[in-house]
Amino acid sequence: SSELKGKHVTVAGLGVSGLPAAKVLHGLGAVVTAVNDGADERARAQAAELEALGITVRLGDGDTLPEGTELIVTAPGWKPDKPLFAAAQRAGVPVWGDVELAWRLRGPDAAPWLAVTGTNGKTTTVQMLASILKAAGLRTAAVGNIGVSLLDAVLGEEQYDVLAVELSSYQLHWAPSLRAHSAAVLNLAPDHLDWHGSMEAYAADKGRIYEGNRVACVYNVADKATEDLVREADVEEGCRAVGFTLGTPGPSQLGVVEGILVDRAFVENRHKNAQELAEVADVNPPAPHNIANALAAAALARAYGVPAKAVRDGLRAFTPDAHRIAHVADVDDVAYVDDSKATNTHAAEASLAAYESIVWIAGGLAKGATFDELVTKSAPRLRGAVLIGADRALIREALARHAPEVPVVDLDRTDTGAMRAAVQEARRLARAGDTVLLAPACASMDMFANYNKRGDAFADAVRELGSADG
Ligand code: ADP
Repeated sequence: SSELKGKHVTVAGLGVSGLPAAKVLHGLGAVVTAVNDGADERARAQAAELEALGITVRLGDGDTLPEGTELIVTAPGWKPDKPLFAAAQRAGVPVWGDVELAWRLRGPDAAPWLAVTGTNGKTTTVQMLASILKAAGLRTAAVGNIGVSLLDAVLGEEQYDVLAVELSSYQLHWAPSLRAHSAAVLNLAPDHLDWHGSMEAYAADKGRIYEGNRVACVYNVADKATEDLVREADVEEGCRAVGFTLGTPGPSQLGVVEGILVDRAFVENRHKNAQELAEVADVNPPAPHNIANALAAAALARAYGVPAKAVRDGLRAFTPDAHRIAHVADVDDVAYVDDSKATNTHAAEASLAAYESIVWIAGGLAKGATFDELVTKSAPRLRGAVLIGADRALIREALARHAPEVPVVDLDRTDTGAMRAAVQEARRLARAGDTVLLAPACASMDMFANYNKRGDAFADAVRELGSADG
C-alpha cells in the first residue's frame, strides 16, 4: 500500500518470514534495511540475494536500531525482551510481525480468515478445516504457521473465498490489529514460557486471536482457560461463543452423541435442535484429541456457513500429516505408531490416552518441562518405557516416583543410532495386542535435525524388525 512507499522499514531476522517480507516491502517502495543476529552461511546467502535487489543488510547485529527506522517488521520468533524492541519502544517505532504485515496490506480484502491457535493440534485442525471448506466447494488454502506464508496467500495470484489460518503464539504477539471472521483456541498448556515470560503472557497472546471476531469465538469446553479468553475478548456485536466437547453438547456447542458428531450451535432450518455432522469413524485417526480437533474445525466451518454434509465429506477426505499418530506397521501382533510430533508433554499425554497397553519410547530435549503429571496420568496404560535423549533422566525419575512397577530401559544414548536400539528394546517389552508408541514429549534437536527425521528413524527401525522376520 502507498503508506509504505518511501518509509524506512527495518526487517528483523532473515529466514522463512524475513526474506519474503523484505522483498515485498522493497517492492512496495519502502526503504528496507534487513538485520540479523547470526552471520552463518545461510544468512550470508540470503543477504546476497537481498543485496542484489538493492536492500541494505546488516549481519551479526540484530540489536541496534538502524538510524531513521520508522517501522520494524520482525520474524515471529524474535523475543519481545530483545534490546532492539526496547530501543524501538523508546523511539516510538511500531513493531509488526509477518502476519500483521499481511493483514495490513490486504488481510480483510483478500478473504476472511478462519483462525486457529492452541498449544497442540493447530496444524491438524487447520488442515481438517481446509478440507471441509473445499468439500463445500469453496476456494481456500491452509496457510500461516504451516508452510504457506500469509504474505504469499494474500498477495499471490490465487483468489480465495476464505482462508484457514494457523497462528502461533509468537505470530499473535506481533499481530495487534488482526481481526478474524471467527477463531478457535484449541487448548492451553504451558509451552514456550521462556519466550513469553509467563503463562499469563502466553495465554494473553493466544487470546489475541479472538479480538474483533465477527461471527464466532470457538473454545474448548474441557479447557476452561480457553473459555476465559473468550470472555475477556473484545468482539464485534453479535459474535457468539461456541464450545466444543467430547461429551453431549449444550445449546451453543458441538459435541458427540452416541458416536455421532453433533452441532447444536449452528442448526440448519428443518433440524430443530441438533444437526448430525459426521460419525466418529469419519475422523482419521479417531483418537479423542483428534475428535476434538475435528469438532473445532467443524465449528469454524459452520460459523462460515458450511452445510453439515461438507463437514462429513471434508473429514473423510482428510489424511493427517506424517509423524502425527502414524501407524507404521504391525510386527508380531504389536502395532508401531509414530507420533514424533508429540514434542511436549501435553501432546504426548493426548497420544498416550489413545491406546490401552503401551510400550512408550520417549525422551529428547525437555525445554524446561516436568513429567510428573504426564507420567501419573499415563501410568496405568504403560507396559514399559524406553528412554533416549539428553533429558531422559527427568522422565526416568518421574517414572520412578509415580510408576515404579513399570519396567524402564534407559538407553543412556543420544546418538542417531539410538532409535534403532530403542525400537528393539521396545519389541522385547511388548506383548501381543500392545502398541509401541513413539511420543517423545520432548524436542528432537539433541539427536536429530527435526521431528521428521526422528520419526523417519523410528519407521526405518520398525521396518527392519519386520524384514528381519520375513
Ligand atoms: P501443532 O500444529 O499445534 O503442533 P499438530 O496438529 O501438528 O499440532 O499436532 C502435534 C501433536 O500434538 C500431535 O502429534 C499429537 O501428539 C498432539 N495433538 C494433536 N491434537 C491435539 C489436541 N487437540 N490436544 C492435545 N494434543 C494434541
